[in-house]
Amino acid sequence: MSDKYDVIVIGAGPGGYVAAIKAAQLGLKTACVESWTSEDGKSQVLGGTCLNVGCIPSKALLEISHKFEEASNDYEMQGIIAKDVKIDVAKMMERKLGMVKQLTGGIAGLFKANGVTSIHGHGKLLANRRVEVTDKDGKTKTYEAENVVIATGSKPIEIPPAPMTEGHIVDSEGALEFEEVPKRLGVIGAGVIGLELGSVWARLGAEVTMLEAQDTFLPAVDQQVAKEALKQYRKQGLDIVLGGRVTGAEVKRKLVNVSYEDSEGKQELKVDKLIVAVGRRPLTDNLLAADSGVSLDERGFIFVDDQCKTEAPGVWAVGDVVRGPMLAHKAMEEGVMVVERIAGKKPQVNYDCIPNVIYTSPEVAWVGKTEEQLKTEGEAYKVGTFPFAANGRAMAANSTAGLVKIIADEKTDRILGFHVVGPQASEIVAQGVIAMEFGSSAEDLALTCFAHPTLSESVHEAALAVDGGAIHIANRRKKK
Ligand SMILES: Cc1cc2nc3c(=O)[nH]c(=O)nc-3n(C[C@H](O)[C@H](O)[C@H](O)COP(=O)(O)OP(=O)(O)OC[C@H]3O[C@@H](n4cnc5c(N)ncnc54)[C@H](O)[C@@H]3O)c2cc1C
Repeated sequence: MSDKYDVIVIGAGPGGYVAAIKAAQLGLKTACVESWTSEDGKSQVLGGTCLNVGCIPSKALLEISHKFEEASNDYEMQGIIAKDVKIDVAKMMERKLGMVKQLTGGIAGLFKANGVTSIHGHGKLLANRRVEVTDKDGKTKTYEAENVVIATGSKPIEIPPAPMTEGHIVDSEGALEFEEVPKRLGVIGAGVIGLELGSVWARLGAEVTMLEAQDTFLPAVDQQVAKEALKQYRKQGLDIVLGGRVTGAEVKRKLVNVSYEDSEGKQELKVDKLIVAVGRRPLTDNLLAADSGVSLDERGFIFVDDQCKTEAPGVWAVGDVVRGPMLAHKAMEEGVMVVERIAGKKPQVNYDCIPNVIYTSPEVAWVGKTEEQLKTEGEAYKVGTFPFAANGRAMAANSTAGLVKIIADEKTDRILGFHVVGPQASEIVAQGVIAMEFGSSAEDLALTCFAHPTLSESVHEAALAVDGGAIHIANRRKKK
């Protein structure tokens, strides 16, 4: 077979593997280059950050730890006697690994079924859409393509005051691998990843302190929702310190001594493990030859337009390595858009309708604009909210914290923002995404029949509340 392809994808994470499969489905001769190698150094591993050390393993541990916490704390009041519930961390990790293996192996199967050629090695983009691949033994080979899709993803940001150490100061990857529950755990960064990982270990018994440099909790989230989430997290024992700037961390006698400053001055914290979860950076290490024609923006992301085209003709870039939210589904949508454009179609990702989820308990999920954004933009809007405390299904599930909040345009009633904090927010938010994709008004949702009893009835009621017509709660009087 010749080494010339219609499409070569570099990276087999959600952006890359989805692009490769879709390209092959569209009849394009496709190869995907991935450097990830199994621990024994023998085989290639597909799936990227998301499947190996991100979305899937973190959700596996969140699900298991949630069940453990429920069984330990919430069963008795429901009449279930489950005394001395214990966690076997090794077994939990074995199950997580099993899921990861099944899913990453599944992608290899999908590549085969769709006719995608998988190339194991590090890809480097040369001039004129040539890709040089260095294999694990250091041998290089150059491939040619009509189109190249870069999907090399991201990696954790390290901070000078808290450099990684073997086993004590770790990033998100290390935090998914602890062999036992740390007695005291520190987390730097109260963002999505920090909150999820902190929750896992807190549920299993760790005393968790989270140090967040910003004064505002979850600044990108609607602040009514963020406040409710913060209240619930603190109730669960997550000690979240806002305005806490870490100045140093050192390991002494198997303990991590963390120094930080908050509004009251210098502070010290001693923990058994410290997770650094301050964010992720685009991964372009040794990726671009000087004459590749692809440039980076000022923050190190590959520079692309709205359709993910780079400045080099025929070279595209998708996912975490380009601007926009670092989310798996965003990467996948961009991968599909790009290869469909290569095949002559004209799709466009709707960046206004990308949902965000924090898989804590309660979950937090949203799509569209927050009240704070609309205020800054000077848009006139109206709001409807409905608390899960007034939802029968939530009561039956013993999960009544949180609310649904719908924000609509004051004049046109078009839904501008859809926010949920509460049970299954990650699933409920899809209703907001669909409604917004279809240009729905709040009234459209209010006129829709929702099954009873379901958590989704809270969406119905919040939509009714936008115009003061909720049935199962007293409506707020409109300000004149
Ligand atoms: C702990 C954690 C939890 C997360 N949870 C969620 C979640 O619940 N939902 C969600 O939407 N997102 C989540 N994310 C984010 C999500 O993982 C990323 O947004 C997603 O993986 C981005 O996909 P990608 O294809 O752009 O990059 P990646 O998944 O990072 O894949 C890039 C791939 O490219 C390979 N590569 C890099 N350079 C080269 C090269 N030069 N040659 C060959 N191969 C190369 C890498 O080995 C990697 O396999 C989470 C992330 C973390 C860390």
